[in-house]
Amino acid sequence: MDTKIYLSSPHMGGTEQDYVNEAFDTNWVAPLGPNVDGFEKSLESYLGKGNHVAALSSGTAAIHLALILLGVEKGDEVICQSMTFSASANPIIYQGATPIFVDSELDTWNICPNHLEEAIKDRISKGKKPKAIIAVHLYGMPYKVEEIKKISEKYEIPVIEDSAEALGSSYKDKKCGTFGDISILSFNGNKIITTSGGGALVSRNLKHKEKAIFLATQARDNAPHYQHSQIGYNYRLSNISAGIGRGQMEVLDKHVTLRRKMNQFYKNIFKRKEGINLFSEPTSNYFSNHWLSCILVDANICGFSSEDIRLQMSENNIECRPLWKPMHLQPVFKDAPYYGATISENLFKIGLCLPSGSNLKSKEKVKINDVLIHFIDN
Ligand SMILES: *Cc1c(COP(=O)(O)O)cnc(C)c1O
Repeated sequence: MDTKIYLSSPHMGGTEQDYVNEAFDTNWVAPLGPNVDGFEKSLESYLGKGNHVAALSSGTAAIHLALILLGVEKGDEVICQSMTFSASANPIIYQGATPIFVDSELDTWNICPNHLEEAIKDRISKGKKPKAIIAVHLYGMPYKVEEIKKISEKYEIPVIEDSAEALGSSYKDKKCGTFGDISILSFNGNKIITTSGGGALVSRNLKHKEKAIFLATQARDNAPHYQHSQIGYNYRLSNISAGIGRGQMEVLDKHVTLRRKMNQFYKNIFKRKEGINLFSEPTSNYFSNHWLSCILVDANICGFSSEDIRLQMSENNIECRPLWKPMHLQPVFKDAPYYGATISENLFKIGLCLPSGSNLKSKEKVKINDVLIHFIDN
């Protein structure tokens, strides 16, 4: 049998190993060093002037520190987009706070501005103003940046921009990862670039970067001995991982182009079939890195479901996956308040993520094409 075709797998560009070797040669085998500094500089220059980056051990750690920097404490409430990966919401619980989940809208599949405002008003009327809003650019598609910012400013609630899936995306030519009061990135193995595991906290406020690094290195006070006035974490990125990141930054734009080509590849396949809609930018203001290409399948029109496609692909050793299951439907969050209707629930029911890696070979694309077309036409 052919080797498995994955949804999204690591794609090395070539120079990663040079940076890693340099770390070995100079014995910088630690959670600090020249690669960590160099990776941060590279991300700062990519995101543009005024952005400060702290390289961390994961995107989850970055969200956790963002909550701490915004003063989220036990008993507080934090609003979070319901349709997302659990890592967006878990750190709210780490802080002893309560997640308030909000439904998506259909244009971007991200947090719905109307339900967001409804949630804020209702929580305030119940006596608690939410401490932060976690908004996510799912699959690389920017959320409704202007609408969310307006609401954030109106109610004076900061936004944590979860840009884990959207490095390389932009809205009105401004890069994702620069829209939140604090933004986060992920370099997990399946993301558009990887450090084999890692993340970053991004802010326009230099103090945020400094405080994040302080907390990520065990919150050590300035003293010759080990002195601590607050609880710290071991969340810094290793210099080995950061070396991989420096190499990956050299191919990021190429990866974006290749992922967008994969989206075009699926557009050509699915144009033949009514009832299958490829997730696409709602207007030309939106530029998605198309981290994953996704479809919605209307079984009433097609006569088959997204799950039927997934099973057929799986039989051919091609990995597909349902969309993120909304957090308000997850057993672990069953008691959390929820605002919205059934948009995210329906997207979950009829959606599917397709193999989207920047490293898919021509032979693999031919196979994907053949299996899909054969299934659709029969
Ligand atoms: C991957 C991901 C994260 C978490 O990043 P890690 O680096 O895996 O901890 C957070 N949010 C979203 C939306 C993600 O896809």
